[in-house]
Amino acid sequence: MNKTKLLLATCFLLAFSLQAQIKDPVATEVWKPVPRVVSPGSASNTAPSDAIMLFDGKNTSEWTHGDGSDVKWEMGDGFMTVVKGAGGIKTKRNFGDCQLHIEWRTPAKVMKEGQGRGNSGIFLQSRYELQVLDSYENTTYSNGQAGSIYKQSIPLVNACRAPGEWQTYDIIYTAPRFNEDGVKVASARITVLHNGVLIQNNTEIKGTTEYIGLPKNNKHGKAPLMLQDHSDPVSYRNIWIREL
Ligand code: MG
Repeated sequence: MNKTKLLLATCFLLAFSLQAQIKDPVATEVWKPVPRVVSPGSASNTAPSDAIMLFDGKNTSEWTHGDGSDVKWEMGDGFMTVVKGAGGIKTKRNFGDCQLHIEWRTPAKVMKEGQGRGNSGIFLQSRYELQVLDSYENTTYSNGQAGSIYKQSIPLVNACRAPGEWQTYDIIYTAPRFNEDGVKVASARITVLHNGVLIQNNTEIKGTTEYIGLPKNNKHGKAPLMLQDHSDPVSYRNIWIREL
């Protein structure tokens, strides 16, 4: 075995044993540093002419639950709200590279702390979570707060509005690339503005979002956008997407 092969084999074994050792969700939490707080300004959020309107506040026909059933989330006046246990929802269409605008609101009444406070999430290609959380004066692990790529990338700053206020994410997303053998040749990339403030700047997504353990990188193509039911009544409105 030459030196390069030996090095590769060692790396593989190390990665394999590291994955096998991680059994505890706490093992992948990062608590420091804590992003500084920035107060966002106001922004214009109207869909441009070439966008696909995924949710206009009334019509959920672009969405379905995992089993293909109609959306059972609660419809409000111009928004929809997660119903605990109803499950996440996903778009009927598949998406890859895109520009996505989405507005969300965590409950005004603060019941819990940490990850239990207004938790939901936006899963790009059903795999990569941009965290939705009430991170306004709410301590949790930094790589799990609002605007984090969950357990992968801490947001540059904390631009969260107060609980009960509407917030925006503007996302520019480039899907990962795989070769014919299923080897990832380019990671997904994501840029995110939270309430108009840059929080992820062309961030590399290392692989799938995992609650326990390390990201995975299995070959996939275009896939639905998914919104998470994490048991908290988080609301969504004005969701539009531009395919890139
Ligand atoms: Mg979440």
